Amino acid sequence: MPIESGAFRRPLAQELISRGVRMTRRRRLLVEIIQGAERHPDAVSLWQRARAQDATLNKVTVYRTLGMLKRQGLVDELDLMHLEGEKHFYEARPTRDHIHLACIKCGRIQEFESSLFEKLKGQIERERRFRIEVVRVEAGGYCDRCQE
Ligand SMILES: [Zn+2]
Ligand SMILES: [Zn+2]
Repeated sequence: MPIESGAFRRPLAQELISRGVRMTRRRRLLVEIIQGAERHPDAVSLWQRARAQDATLNKVTVYRTLGMLKRQGLVDELDLMHLEGEKHFYEARPTRDHIHLACIKCGRIQEFESSLFEKLKGQIERERRFRIEVVRVEAGGYCDRCQE
């Protein structure tokens, strides 16, 4: 179930280098997989994809790299309505925030962008004098295919 992800500002690897993060071969591999993922992969599926290219890459490296990317604010960690239990999913932060629509029947995840969402964020920032760094909105329900 491919979804379209929003465009990222610039390649993650380039962004990390510009911030002085040391780019090992394994980090580069993981970052490229995350950047290129058209769905929202969880840590284990990232690990499986990475292992196809580097059989010695272990899960700890995956978790450490994800932790580093989260601290850098370059990757969002999502729970997507807990459709798959406690699993967490990852995506490179796009230029514009989007809302995730999770189908509780088929598991399809759709992304929804709206200028209204941007306006709402602006309103929150003005009215509460709150500077938003990260915002996450999810809706659970039935997608168009799953409504009879
Ligand atoms: Zn569905
Ligand atoms: Zn997304």
